[in-house]
Amino acid sequence: MAYKTINPYNNELVKEYDDTTDQELQDTLERAHDLYKTFKTQDIKERSKMLHRVADKIRERSDELARTCTIEMGKLLVEAKGEVELCAVIADYFADHAEEMLKPEKVETSANGKAEIHHQSTGVIMMVEPWNFPYYQMIRVFAPNFMVGNPMILKHASNTPSSAQLMADVIEEAGAPKGSITNLFMNYDQVSETIADSRVQGVALTGSERGGATVAKTAGENLKQSTLELGGMDPFIVMDDADMDDVAEIAWRSRIYNAGQECTSSKRFIVMEDVYDDFVERLKNNFSKLKPGDPLKDDTTLAPMNTKKAKEELQDQLDEAINAGAQVVYGNEPIDLPGQFFMPTILTHVDKDNPAHKTEMFGPVAVVYKVSSEEEAIALANDNPYGLGAIVFTGDSQRGAEIATKIETGMVYVNNFRYSLPELPFGGVKRSGYGREMSRIGLMAFVNDKLILTA
Ligand code: NAP
Repeated sequence: MAYKTINPYNNELVKEYDDTTDQELQDTLERAHDLYKTFKTQDIKERSKMLHRVADKIRERSDELARTCTIEMGKLLVEAKGEVELCAVIADYFADHAEEMLKPEKVETSANGKAEIHHQSTGVIMMVEPWNFPYYQMIRVFAPNFMVGNPMILKHASNTPSSAQLMADVIEEAGAPKGSITNLFMNYDQVSETIADSRVQGVALTGSERGGATVAKTAGENLKQSTLELGGMDPFIVMDDADMDDVAEIAWRSRIYNAGQECTSSKRFIVMEDVYDDFVERLKNNFSKLKPGDPLKDDTTLAPMNTKKAKEELQDQLDEAINAGAQVVYGNEPIDLPGQFFMPTILTHVDKDNPAHKTEMFGPVAVVYKVSSEEEAIALANDNPYGLGAIVFTGDSQRGAEIATKIETGMVYVNNFRYSLPELPFGGVKRSGYGREMSRIGLMAFVNDKLILTA
């Protein structure tokens, strides 16, 4: 049994799940393929109504969904509730807008006849999703593809099986036809077989570079489309004219949200020398106020990490960074609680040869750099294998927007927190992957843009 729920707050084994058999996988593929054929002739308005009911059901079962996720991967209950509400917002958004976005488009042509592009479903899509936002990651692929008419097969992370199954059950209870999304407890070979199956037309993965490269290789070998949402080392640039109260408030949240286990967490703080000392002092001060404890309790502000392994790996990375010359200005002390708690830590003096300069640390460790010019800040932001998101703070929004155009990432937020909303495209460049989720771009990821030229 590879799929287990273990509470990272108290290390209790809550539930284990039986592995999916090959027969179950075959039955799922057949049912999903049959549903694809039904969806092809169904009025999209029907799916819009169903998806609104999914949003309603998510809101109705919000408490149970949030608690399940908190117990399973440790996130603060308040954050889990926020994630659940965001899922309902995403479902409502695609239920409201997909029909318009998918309308046939006329094309001016010199060919003989009337040219149109029709956006149609392609078939069954495989989803491979991570544990850090167990519901949001599912819904941001499910909602648009459901509207397109692509049924989905889900392989979720082995440490969040309860959240995966609960959300799949909620969707079905809301009235989505069986097979719209089927959660299976699959091994990696079964994932490869699914991608290779002729009934499956694509795969969307969110996760690590390692997982992404393997899945994309299988997709490539089988000539299937793929989208990859991978890791990030997002820069947070602070110019010397920035409002330091705003900076201080957003900086700690952007690193600590979800116990720092977010692809778009700000991981590298690039700060102009005039405001550097002030920035570090305020970050230390905000980190020192965090209170570790039971993530189900309202007064807890520091959640445990998701597994013992994740905590140990982060400690190894931190030790390696320190051995390579990084200085700890705050943190790196044990927290005297049984769960997988990691003390928020600030590192400085990370030079270009330090592994921490280019390796993602998926937990509450902030690396702070001092720079003396805008050009140096931009060059440092771009000196990284990843290209997911970035934040820029400056007193001059126009200057911020110009800096944004020079940063090699898929998303840049100027004087803002890094929102994830259904109308905004989400995704990156470089080793952060390819393709986008959410917005019209995400809706179109697995669509057949069919040309119909009628004489
Ligand atoms: P991971 O190990 O790649 O796991 C993610 C998912 O991929 C899990 O369901 C995992 O299954 C599966 N998987 C991994 N290797 C596979 C393979 N060879 N074949 C089939 N499935 C495979 O990622 P993680 O370390 O848990 O997640 C953290 C990473 O995800 C970080 O790098 C983070 O930045 C990134 N992330 C990116 C985004 C984004 O939107 N760009 C969002 C969140 C997280 P098992 O659990 O069974 O191994």
